[in-house]
Amino acid sequence: MKLNTSSTSSNLIDISRRDSSFVDRIKRRSGVNLDLCWHCHSCAGGCPFVTAMDYPPNRVIRLVQLGLKKEALESSGIWICVGCNTCSVQCPNAIDIPAVNDALREMAIEEGVAVAEPNILAFHREVLNSIERYGRTHKFEIMLRYKLRRRDWFSDMAVGLKMFAKRKLELLPSRSRDMKIIKGLFGHKQTV
Ligand code: SF4
Ligand code: SF4
Repeated sequence: MKLNTSSTSSNLIDISRRDSSFVDRIKRRSGVNLDLCWHCHSCAGGCPFVTAMDYPPNRVIRLVQLGLKKEALESSGIWICVGCNTCSVQCPNAIDIPAVNDALREMAIEEGVAVAEPNILAFHREVLNSIERYGRTHKFEIMLRYKLRRRDWFSDMAVGLKMFAKRKLELLPSRSRDMKIIKGLFGHKQTV
């Protein structure tokens, strides 16, 4: 990460815009002590999606430590993370990076930041909507609604057909018997 005190180059980060309260807010929200990070890069080395991210996980932590809120909240890495926990397992201090990314995502949505990966957010919304409706995920409907949002019907057709052939996609949803509990959980949800 290159740092600078001015914003004369798009490759440099203007560190004069630091938010000194940012790191404490993310620590509180995620329950993760970011001071423990040694910047050893083990997390980035093990992350299966690191090549698709603008900032690898160790650098997102550095952005937060430095109070570079805009860069952290606008990062694509916080959305590309699938929460597989490979990084946390490899971290010598067991830092829960997915929890940090969740906290950053929540804050990005609350503060109306331009989401770097809007399609991933749209997919998350459809998964949550399905759980709210049925108490479980109905993959076929999730994909239909996601495709409808994106107006993109054909890009994953081959995968969808394979899933049908292997009976991984049910046409009709099944519903949890405990919908009262599910509705109660979603009664506390924040708008995303
Ligand atoms: S593996 Fe852990 S200590 Fe090392 S850079 Fe990543 S978060 Fe920091
Ligand atoms: S949890 Fe996220 S950041 Fe960590 S290894 Fe998995 S995808 Fe990468």
